[in-house]
Amino acid sequence: MAYGYHGRILHVNLTAGTLETEQPNEAFYRTYMGGSAMGAYYLLKHTPKNADPLGPENTLSLMVGVLTGTPISGNSRVSVTAKSPISEMADASEAGGFWPAELKFSGFDGIVIHGKSPTPVYLWVHDGQAELRDATALLGRFTADVEDAIRAELDDKRIQVMQTGPAAEKGVRFSALVNNANRVNGRGGMGLVMASKNLKAVAVRGHARPELADTDALAALARWGAQNVDTSGVAGFKRLGTAALLTSQDAVGGLPTNNWSSGTMENAEAIGGERMLETILKTTDSCYACAVRCKRVVEITEGPYLADPRYGGPEYESISALGSYCGISNLPAIAHANQLCNMYGIDTIACGGTIAWAMDCFEQGLLTLEDTGGIELRFGSAEALVQMVKAIGEREGFGKVLGEGSQRAAETLGIGHDLVVATKGREYPAHMPQVKRSMALLYAVNPGGADHTVCEHETSYARFPEGMAALGLMDPQPANTLNPEKVRYALYS
Ligand code: SF4
Repeated sequence: MAYGYHGRILHVNLTAGTLETEQPNEAFYRTYMGGSAMGAYYLLKHTPKNADPLGPENTLSLMVGVLTGTPISGNSRVSVTAKSPISEMADASEAGGFWPAELKFSGFDGIVIHGKSPTPVYLWVHDGQAELRDATALLGRFTADVEDAIRAELDDKRIQVMQTGPAAEKGVRFSALVNNANRVNGRGGMGLVMASKNLKAVAVRGHARPELADTDALAALARWGAQNVDTSGVAGFKRLGTAALLTSQDAVGGLPTNNWSSGTMENAEAIGGERMLETILKTTDSCYACAVRCKRVVEITEGPYLADPRYGGPEYESISALGSYCGISNLPAIAHANQLCNMYGIDTIACGGTIAWAMDCFEQGLLTLEDTGGIELRFGSAEALVQMVKAIGEREGFGKVLGEGSQRAAETLGIGHDLVVATKGREYPAHMPQVKRSMALLYAVNPGGADHTVCEHETSYARFPEGMAALGLMDPQPANTLNPEKVRYALYS
């Protein structure tokens, strides 16, 4: 068996209620390695042409990588792959946290979910074993509550839980998968896919460590990473989280503002990493064994917008989508809206992008108070933002329309088609294509729609010359240029 793996993939047939372990050979692992590549393999193998993304024939894969569970920073990641109910194409969604490493420790390299359960269930995977358990009592509850309930039922506080939230149960199209109540596979509607299978959650726990080729060398590499992070290219993320990007993106005209009508926002520093550090930041957090510790944990105990540290804190994409996209510079309101998204299990990018679209329509007179149920959807209105996120999470009133995403809402209402900022139904992440042209290319051609995780960002080309040279990329180009070298950059990185 290839080092770093257990050589075991768990297959769960929810229709039949059966669980089987596949033991692929080394060639399989060397070909697909893990993550979205492995997920794509199972999607193509098991999903028939024209399958309904929300039907039992869709195949949902949860895959980790060869280094997941080792002490190398940035590798406790899980890729969730399925046919997306948003793009209706093959799609993958990424998240970090402790769940990915714990899945590896449970004795499996990935889980493939087939079919649909006749009743609500959750999957419990532990030390090479797996079972389906009744999830009826977990329905309709917020994510932290569900996590607590599963840990209490199984009597182990260290269990990691990935779950669909109440939004997915109600049918919100851009529903997410949430682990640790604040790490999110947000993109592509993967929460709705899992909910459509009557699968509420996947709980993992274990003590299995796959064999490594050179444990000492890996430990030395991990120590080197931890010792050098403060002088590395990601030092800013350690200090300010990804919110460090707010002001730098704004400075180059790359901060999407007022539904993408501008790349700069007046008073952008009010929602930036420094302001968070000075005001609502309670502590920082990490994914398993990551020295960067970019995750923010915020707390607000008074005022109109509260924030519970259990739900983490907003990072760059969420601050932009729920903030600058909507012209909002009220950081507590953004943190509260981010918490609501984590409680309900909603993709913050799609949610903010769709609300920004609706605000634009309202400002232009295409929507009225009658349409919105009395919510004055003006750019800059924190109150409207929070009301709308709740309405989407509950899928009630105008939230039912917006819970379909901006492109489908425009089609349903017959308005604002030219104000939609999405590809294949997926709202753009917070990187203006005008100033990131390789990213723009992939926004256009990626099967699942606009995605900021499918290639390196433009700024990395010049900043990480050694790493890029290893990929054969040795000719950095200006960020706002698109030429053959930038196409190579998009492809190879
Ligand atoms: S802490 Fe930040 S940098 Fe480290 S793995 Fe998690 S998301 Fe990535």
